[in-house]
Amino acid sequence: MKIFKGNIVHTPTKDTFEIFENQYIFVSEDGLVQEIRKELPQGMEQEVIDYTDKLLIPAYTDLHLHPFQYPLIGNGYDRELLEWCYRYCAPAEMLSAEEATERKVCQAVIHDLWKYGSLHSVHFPTVSEHNVDTLMQMLDESGMFAYVGKSQDDLALFAENADETTEESMQAALRLAGKYKDSRRVRYIFTVGWSLDASDDLMRQIHDAALMYQAPFQAHLDENRTEIKWILERHPECRNYAETYEKCGVFGKEVKTVMEHCIHTTEEEIAMMRDNGVYVAHCIHSNLDIMSGIMQLRRYIDEGIRVGIGSDISAGHTLNLTDCMRAAVQASKMLAVRTGKLPVSMEEVFYLATKGGGSFFGKVGSFEPGYQFDALVIDDSSLSLPIQYTIKERMERYLYCGDDRQIIARYVLGEEIREPAYIA
Ligand SMILES: [Zn+2]
Repeated sequence: MKIFKGNIVHTPTKDTFEIFENQYIFVSEDGLVQEIRKELPQGMEQEVIDYTDKLLIPAYTDLHLHPFQYPLIGNGYDRELLEWCYRYCAPAEMLSAEEATERKVCQAVIHDLWKYGSLHSVHFPTVSEHNVDTLMQMLDESGMFAYVGKSQDDLALFAENADETTEESMQAALRLAGKYKDSRRVRYIFTVGWSLDASDDLMRQIHDAALMYQAPFQAHLDENRTEIKWILERHPECRNYAETYEKCGVFGKEVKTVMEHCIHTTEEEIAMMRDNGVYVAHCIHSNLDIMSGIMQLRRYIDEGIRVGIGSDISAGHTLNLTDCMRAAVQASKMLAVRTGKLPVSMEEVFYLATKGGGSFFGKVGSFEPGYQFDALVIDDSSLSLPIQYTIKERMERYLYCGDDRQIIARYVLGEEIREPAYIA
């Protein structure tokens, strides 16, 4: 057993921080939270890992990112999604996916996920089986938790020919799903960019394979108006974009699904997302950077839709999830000015970045008993003036003004995760 001491802050429910001021958190041998106590039991001689006066918060989950786009970060944002993909993203991704560069790109991404405290992450790499395998191995070595999936596209979108046949695509995906089926920390997620470059036949086979391997599924949904127009032209039989996935069995229900963006959803689609238990990755920086729009976060939370926060590098300009959180609050405030409805609070968005997105991985993102002890230790002394602040005020200030410089330690399952050596 391990015992940590500090100002423990988490959000078991979305509306308020639950705060335990300089208290003790007991963690079992297998890294799960047992209980939080005000005092140590009398006569207990167990050593305490002492972070008195520091903030102890759950580590973050980055629910959507494209690792092999990382070298492109910050570039080409004067274009909207489809032109950005064609002109910038596809060539850059191809370069970083080459075997000579792939490890360097993976190193940078893994290092920066660690740096910003996103110790759980959902990756959307390239069509290359080699890239995905390399990334999965390196993530596994890092000690962090992740889902990674090979992009499957058997239809040509920007190129003359498709990258792979349906059969080649499934064979590669099944090899990866099989190889990592017993891995605890780094697991496979079936992955399709959008229903523009994956055939119905492919997605139906993915449904069957996802059930066989108990693996989840990820894809993009309703990100950009031109994208939606193209989708509906290709699928005239569907009432909406979501149905292009649902009719193939890859839209929640028996296959755990995360849909990225979900900005221009119809009423029908919102009901489908809610009823099918689909997760939404809210990627606000990306949505602002390439002018896709602002997702109705307040509405989704009120509808009970499962939402997490994604950096969506590299249409999003940073892996810093704290920065993504404040941007999500700010964007919600701007929508509220227009609609007259309430914006989301920082507590709610912190919940989404921890327990909300974390639930995609299981009992993750909270310090309730039975949850993984995955934690960040925050020394926020550099952010404070020499007057007395409450713990809640310190949390708010950290989330608005802080960054990785205040994170002094990171834990997964009770074990400290040190800075990945290849960058240090
Ligand atoms: Zn994406």
